[in-house]
Amino acid sequence: MNILIIGSGGREHALAWKIAQSPLVDTVWSAPGSVALDQIGPCFDVQPDDLEGLQALALQLEPDLIVIGPEAPLALGAADMLRARGFDVFGPNKEPAQLEASKGFSKDLMAKLGVPTAAYGRFTDAGKAKAFLDTLDAPYVLKADGLAAGKGVVIAPTLEEAKAEAEEMLSGKFGDASAELVIEEFMHGEEASVFVLTDGVNRITLPACQDHKRLLDHDEGPNTGGMGAYCPAPVMTPELMAQVDEEIAAPMLDGLNQAGHPYQGVLYIGLMITAEGPKVVEFNVRFGDPECQVLMASLLDDIVPVLLACATGGMPENDFKSLLPVVDQARPAASVVLATRGYPGAYEKGSVIKNVKAAGDINGVTIFHAGTGTNDAGDLIATGGRVLNVTAVGDDLKQAVERCYKAVDAIDWPEGVCRRDIAWRALNRE
Ligand code: ATP
Repeated sequence: MNILIIGSGGREHALAWKIAQSPLVDTVWSAPGSVALDQIGPCFDVQPDDLEGLQALALQLEPDLIVIGPEAPLALGAADMLRARGFDVFGPNKEPAQLEASKGFSKDLMAKLGVPTAAYGRFTDAGKAKAFLDTLDAPYVLKADGLAAGKGVVIAPTLEEAKAEAEEMLSGKFGDASAELVIEEFMHGEEASVFVLTDGVNRITLPACQDHKRLLDHDEGPNTGGMGAYCPAPVMTPELMAQVDEEIAAPMLDGLNQAGHPYQGVLYIGLMITAEGPKVVEFNVRFGDPECQVLMASLLDDIVPVLLACATGGMPENDFKSLLPVVDQARPAASVVLATRGYPGAYEKGSVIKNVKAAGDINGVTIFHAGTGTNDAGDLIATGGRVLNVTAVGDDLKQAVERCYKAVDAIDWPEGVCRRDIAWRALNRE
């Protein structure tokens, strides 16, 4: 079987690495891919948002399965287009992909289906937005409706700041993405994320993850795309996992299916564990990055049969559930992001990174590449903000984290920075 992966980051590297281990798989192609993905299989220079280019590539390669990594092509309708050409695609169609592409759509659907989430309002008028803010308590949560590269959420500490922010967002602070605003009640609690693999009817839930959004230790500094992650997250007890399945995953997937939009792919449920139980912070329509890296390292089973079953649909329930037989025994895993100094602000590209191979040979460690390239001399160089995902499994989470940092310390990259406290919540609990 031949599989085409769309994307180029650490998430797609982890997916390709896991998929390539399957005895079912002959070739893993990537578009556009990366220096690291090129080590796994041929890469093709087609960008994820180039729908015509993706279609032409799929027709040329005739893959048995197409796995779409990032959200942008899903929001544009890449899955619909490829399905219409007869391909099996892991990733939802444009309509259910609105769960991520429009926060208003997502909130309205949750409200309709009775899925627990923060109270909210949708606004295009600044006056009405401010009047709604007057009814809420501090702090205030303002969200651009559309995709804003993870930057469209502002938590304002005071009413004055919230009102000013509402004005700015509706005046185009995030371009078209903030032409509409969602304002939410602030939820208190601990965050976690749960990933559900589904063909639209059946579902398998992967071990719960926690990520680390802030740049610095102790959750300080600016927000980033994610500085590390781990699984399983002990805050998600079996009881809470069952509650998330029953109160969130089942009604959402059934609701979409009944509306004629079966969701085929991975549903990312961002949760706040509040005093009243788990509530949805957001849905994403793809794997998280770097949560995907820890999940791929963690899973013992072949993931290809379940990706394929999600893409084709129509499998009997028990057959579907049997596709990942030891998901409960997945190994504890952690991932530490090495970023270029300066990220998420301005940073220099091109610094040389040494000893990555030796670090990756440490027991239990796998290093995924999020933003690397090579220079004319053939050295590995940093080409992005988040550069390497130093990932490890262990007998327990402590060992996984120790292995990650042993590998981090073995890498020779003076311009690289990372957090030193990945998985602190779980380790403190132990
Ligand atoms: P991401 O980059 O995670 O995709 P996003 O821009 O889609 O983020 P959200 O996940 O909706 O936005 O919000 C970002 C962060 O803001 C959340 O991880 C959470 O910490 C905080 N947040 C969002 N909504 C709420 C809320 N209602 N109450 C408390 N905190 C919230």
